[in-house]
This record gives sequence, structure tokens and C-alpha cells, in this order.
Amino acid sequence: MRSMLLLLAVSALGGPGRAAYADEQADVQANPISITQVLYRSQQARLDSLPAAEQGTPASEIVQLSFQRLLHTVALTGRIELRVTAGDTVAETLHGHVIVVNEAVARLPEGERMFILAHELGHVVMSHWAQMGELFQRYVPGAVTQAQTDAVSASLGREATGLARQHEFDADAFALRTLRALGHADADATAVMSRFGFQRDTATHPGTRQRLAALCAIDAGKIETAGLDAPP
Ligand SMILES: [Zn+2]
Repeated sequence: MRSMLLLLAVSALGGPGRAAYADEQADVQANPISITQVLYRSQQARLDSLPAAEQGTPASEIVQLSFQRLLHTVALTGRIELRVTAGDTVAETLHGHVIVVNEAVARLPEGERMFILAHELGHVVMSHWAQMGELFQRYVPGAVTQAQTDAVSASLGREATGLARQHEFDADAFALRTLRALGHADADATAVMSRFGFQRDTATHPGTRQRLAALCAIDAGKIETAGLDAPP
């Protein structure tokens, strides 16, 4: 359930996107670019690196059908795109509206697959990409320079990590209430989170224990249902 990782690609934190940023630096003197462009290119490089799954297979169809069912339940007004992939990545949202999901989730129970899809959809519905972009723009307005990013990297990194982790909690909560609207049990959410092993905190994601604790703290009677139609 990776999603916002490359948002943190700029020198603030390093990581997989750092190479892309370094490439940008090579001609930044001659062709100044904004932080928005750096982030866009980093996301696009990530998207280009993910292998597409074979289309029309039973697994691909199952994922597509679950996603369509999900879209019928959630009120969504903006752009959205689903890409079914092969490889190692389970799920991720890029450019704020491209949901990438591995064909392997077709083998999961539907409730678990729905949680994964709904988590990513939550990132889209709640405009998490735009929020992160605004944060980076606040720290790095105008053309990107090495001196500028070096000066703000520590504080930008801290704030971006805090925002990214909050986004994960919010996407989990969104996914849980979507599961409930679809008639699935809460146990599907906790099962899928445990299925991929217990992860420690990262720059972009809270650890599995924290995420499970946050999910369990959501009271069934108090959960918000904004953005969701009545269950079918
Ligand atoms: Zn996420």
C-alpha cells in the first residue's frame, strides 16, 4: 500500500526518487524548473517503471470488477484511472489520480481486495497529492536550486513525513468506512494489513502496529460516512 513515497523524492529525504532529482539538477541551471515539475517527473518515472499486467486475464478482470463496484459506492467527481500491474508493488497512487494495483490482489478475499483499492481511492478523493504539492511549494517556491532545497530540507522532510503519515491514517479510515458501506466486515481490514507482514515506520508510512491501532480505535457508531452513498 505504498502511495506517497515519491512525493518525498526531493533532497529532503533521499530515497528512490533521489536519482531522478539528481538528473534534474544536471540541467537545472540552464532550464530552471519548479518543484511541481520535479515532483511530476519523479511520479512519471515511477509510473513508467511499473510493469503492466497482461490485460484480459481472469486476475485482471477481477481487479477491474472490484474497482468498478467501488466506484459505484463512492461519490467521486475528479479524474481517476486504474492500472493493473505485475511486479512487487502491491498498490500505489501516482499523480494524485492514477491508482496502480498488482494483479496478485485478485487472489485475496474480496473484502481485503476492496480495502486495498479503497485505501488508494481515499488518497484520490481526499486530494492528498495536491496537499503534498502545496507543502513542497511553500518550502520551495519558484525555480528549484540546490542551495534552496538544502536550506529547507530538514524542516521540509519533517513536515512532509508528518503529512504523509497522516494521509495514510486518513486513507485507512476512508477504506474502513467504505468496506462497511459495501457490507464487508472490519476483520477484512485488519486481515489485509497483517497479511503483508508487520512494517516499521518509514518516512512516508506509519508502522503496521500504529495503523492497526488507529483502525481499531474507529468506533463503528461514530464513523463518518461523508462521500459515500448508501450501501447497495
Ligand atoms: Zn496509502
